[in-house]
Amino acid sequence: ASGSEENDVVVIGGGPGGYVAAIKAAQLGLKTTCIEKRGALGGTCLNVGCIPSKALLHSSHMYHEAKTTFAKHGVKFDTVEVDLPAMMGQKDKAVSNLTKGIEGLFKKNKVTYIKGSGKFLSPSEISVDTIDGSTTTVTGKNIIIATGSDVKPLPGITIDEKRIVSSTGALALTEIPKRLIVIGAGYIGLEMGSVWGRLGSEVTVVEFAPDIVPSMDGEVRKQFQRILEKQKMKFMLKTKVVAVDTSSDIVKLTVEPSSGGPQTVLEADVVLVSAGRTPFTSGLGLETLGIETDKIGRIPVDNRFGTSVKGVFAIGDVIPGPMLAHKAEEDGIACVEFIAGKEGHVDYDKVPGVCYTHPEVASVGKTEEQVKESGVAYRVGKFPMLANSRAKSIDDADGLVKIIAEKETDKVLGVHIMCSNAGELIHEAALALSYDASSEDIARTCHAHPTLSEAVKEAAMATYDKAIHI
Ligand code: FAD
Repeated sequence: ASGSEENDVVVIGGGPGGYVAAIKAAQLGLKTTCIEKRGALGGTCLNVGCIPSKALLHSSHMYHEAKTTFAKHGVKFDTVEVDLPAMMGQKDKAVSNLTKGIEGLFKKNKVTYIKGSGKFLSPSEISVDTIDGSTTTVTGKNIIIATGSDVKPLPGITIDEKRIVSSTGALALTEIPKRLIVIGAGYIGLEMGSVWGRLGSEVTVVEFAPDIVPSMDGEVRKQFQRILEKQKMKFMLKTKVVAVDTSSDIVKLTVEPSSGGPQTVLEADVVLVSAGRTPFTSGLGLETLGIETDKIGRIPVDNRFGTSVKGVFAIGDVIPGPMLAHKAEEDGIACVEFIAGKEGHVDYDKVPGVCYTHPEVASVGKTEEQVKESGVAYRVGKFPMLANSRAKSIDDADGLVKIIAEKETDKVLGVHIMCSNAGELIHEAALALSYDASSEDIARTCHAHPTLSEAVKEAAMATYDKAIHI
């Protein structure tokens, strides 16, 4: 449709980076086309990532609560059962409603949507193999690559999405595995491990590194691991997988210490490979343009998202930076603002990260280890959720708030929150960091009572002075 007329902007990829960039470009008055090969908008995040995983985390949490805590609150059932097809149906409905919602936003904002796979013919021409089998050429003054990322394979392990699954398969299992082994203790592995653990699987997490989630503040991480262990998740750290045998009904996984040593064989019904994600550029024809990727497959960009070829930009998981949906969206908006001749801005030091387990773990800014390494003198303020009245009133008081501030100026450098809803609470901290606030600024902001957010205020008080309730 748009093939005949030149676009101001053509976006390849309709994930959170690409679709947000396309909408923003259209809002800025630019003629825009978005090409997506999946047949549905929203990318990894909406179709096989953030959204379906949060749907299952919520449903499995409800089941687990019904089984383990409702009676304590005076709510009794005769039996509580999992209806897995219904649970999956609810997840699928959430996904399809949201993808249709983005199609609606494209129409509203007059973004042309082409379902197909795009490939560079030149810096301004994209050939598209559409999903209905035709080929068309789309031209644009500016092209944005937003092709995202894919599961990082592990050498020697073939993903069949049935017994050896990636996160995509783990979001669509048709039976609850008796034993689930998760390879990789990052956000995705711990979230999916939580889902299936709550539904009844025995979960063992195998991790090469000495710690779970290496990006997390060390003190918070230790407490987090203890909480997950209390939830019966088992961890084998400093352990590497050396072989997988799928020849019988049971999957056999041979592991050994990361630094070498005696081997052990673990048995599982399902193995989840969640050892990271890798930028996705295959079939894009980058070689035609002479754009080279770095050692780990990312497209290098300048501070205006420009690649080495004029008029070709890249955003989201395919470029360096945290592989997160909200970061991809920020990239998309800033990139389009630059294209439109405005100023764009993304502060990569202030991108929040959230692990949506229970409790959730959220952080923004630096960890204590990073601050220590930077050599800046600092203070730490902490407040345990056990001393927060709202957390106590709902009997959900695992976790803490930890704030790190520069000693001399009291400027907040990092905030780490572990509690239910930490992913919502973190944004007051993100705003504080954006405005270079001090811990005293947070502490002197009146927080409503009784809320979990009061723990943030109290941790802030404890940073430059003393908390009240502990
Ligand atoms: P993607 O979302 O990967 O989108 C890229 C799109 O481009 C894809 O739809 C692909 O089909 C399309 N494409 C690729 N090549 C072509 C081509 N040649 N032509 C046309 N189309 C093409 N992030 C969070 O922030 N919060 C979370 O809770 C979270 N949970 C996650 C859970 C899981 C299980 C997974 C796997 C990821 C999760 N993420 C989460 C990460 C998040 O999904 C990604 O960071 C985000 O989707 C990146 O957005 P993107 O637009 O760069 O790429």
